[in-house]
Amino acid sequence: MTKHRNIAILGSTGSIGRQSLDIMAEYPTLFKPWLLTANVSANLLIEQALRFKPEHVVIADEQQYDKVRDALAGTATQVHSGSSAIAQLVTDSAVDTVVTAMVGYSGLESTIAAIKANKNIALANKETLVVAGELITQLLKHSSSKLYPVDSEHGAFYQCLVGERRQDVSKLILTASGGPFRTTPIEILHTMRAADALKHPNWAMGAKITIDSATMMNKGFEMLEAKWLFGIDHEHIEIVVHPQSIIHSMVEFCDGSVKAQLGLPDMHLPIRYALGLPDGRLSTNSRKMTIDDYCSLTFERPDYKKFPLLSAAYYAAEQGGNMACIMNAANEVAVAAFLHDRILFTDISDIVKKTMGRVQFLASPTYDDYVATNAEARSYAETLIQ
Ligand code: MG
Repeated sequence: MTKHRNIAILGSTGSIGRQSLDIMAEYPTLFKPWLLTANVSANLLIEQALRFKPEHVVIADEQQYDKVRDALAGTATQVHSGSSAIAQLVTDSAVDTVVTAMVGYSGLESTIAAIKANKNIALANKETLVVAGELITQLLKHSSSKLYPVDSEHGAFYQCLVGERRQDVSKLILTASGGPFRTTPIEILHTMRAADALKHPNWAMGAKITIDSATMMNKGFEMLEAKWLFGIDHEHIEIVVHPQSIIHSMVEFCDGSVKAQLGLPDMHLPIRYALGLPDGRLSTNSRKMTIDDYCSLTFERPDYKKFPLLSAAYYAAEQGGNMACIMNAANEVAVAAFLHDRILFTDISDIVKKTMGRVQFLASPTYDDYVATNAEARSYAETLIQ
């Protein structure tokens, strides 16, 4: 890299956003945080702006605009509010790479804006491809924008596929930790509370994705994400439980050979890899994996009865259209309700499946159809929570 790259981090106060800033602080001559955005975490956004001195910050929650503006008065950082400001700023000619690290469906609008503006994207917001994979794939065909996956599994697929021909791939093997309830008997699953689910064995993540990991919806999302990112049909994507989370995923080829990518379960690794692209790997002094970290690697078949959202995701992949959008919207509503102790753990999958059976299916949705489907599925799911 000859000059530093200007980075827009959408969702800089979340788990991936904070870790992306760690990586930028590690390579200050390579990256400059140009835009930082937050949904509601005004205090942390202010702290980050004072430390990293971006050109712009956006607080999506308009109620907190005055607070952020006052705190950054006298600095060179310009303060904006509202989600439309995000979609507008990512298209600025100064932006080189957009890290999409916001949570949920809210990532869609600004990701589409960034693709239309030919920006390279370090994609951490998996819901973008889950909800509108077909639309995003179409837009990418008419753009010079590249999607570099930040998710550890997709980073693994990407690395395993370097130098390989797509027609030689016979299967993607998507590894899953199994989440916090891997060994919990199905009979007592309904008694699990948010606090139990938030104790993830391997990965430190945000609350939404940790619950998605507990239901294994996260792995279903990742299957859909892999389908769109790599153009591999869902029938050729196999989910395997690997509790140590050392193998981040594997690719099987037509000659029977399997390539795996290994590393410590630390999101800084896939973020560092994604930010190094397209130039190459970034060298680091942080701790490397040793033999003690992988003295035993084990694999299990996932339990589809205990984790019905895995089958729901395959069903959504098979149906196509807006089905995954319906699934995602219902899941967002159900997870939020579970985090507030309004529903049982086992209600999450019931709400998602009922909503998938109820909201009108559209085989070829437009962007406006996705917006309408998201709203309709959310309001139907809300009616199931009483
Ligand atoms: Mg993952």
